[in-house]
Amino acid sequence: MTSISGDGIRIGAGFDSHRLVPGRKLVLCGCRIPFEKGLLGHSDADAPVHALIDAILGALALGDIGQHFPDNDPAYQDADSLRLLKQILSLSGVKNWKVGNADLTIFAESPKLAPYIPAMQQNLAQALGIGSDAVSVKAKTAEGLGPVGKGESIEAHAAVLMIRRAR
Ligand code: MG
Repeated sequence: MTSISGDGIRIGAGFDSHRLVPGRKLVLCGCRIPFEKGLLGHSDADAPVHALIDAILGALALGDIGQHFPDNDPAYQDADSLRLLKQILSLSGVKNWKVGNADLTIFAESPKLAPYIPAMQQNLAQALGIGSDAVSVKAKTAEGLGPVGKGESIEAHAAVLMIRRAR
């Protein structure tokens, strides 16, 4: 069993929300999901990946996604958020850490996301360089309540455990 000392582990939490609008592709955890609407944003607006990036940055107290990828920078227009995730993992303050496990929850009234969950977990695991058994993606509706329930937005929460790599 790996022994983990107190300064060798960090926990992080992230949240993101994007507006659902016609005329945009719906991309969640790198999966292109057929739907009449998509998420509005400067990048591909992949809310769960943005939440995961914020969880990783938060665990290491390295700010937030907006500081690293400003939404007025044309370089990130329609950017693939999985690519942004990989960029974050290669930052000098992050590369000495690995994600132990990640747990995400996506709140969407529709479409039904269950068929895409295994592919989402695989996409994230591949980007993080860990096994897909260490990546959880859960999907919930908002029971008709609030902007998610009215189909106006999709939200995502993420939690990660970061483990310092052996030197
Ligand atoms: Mg976002």
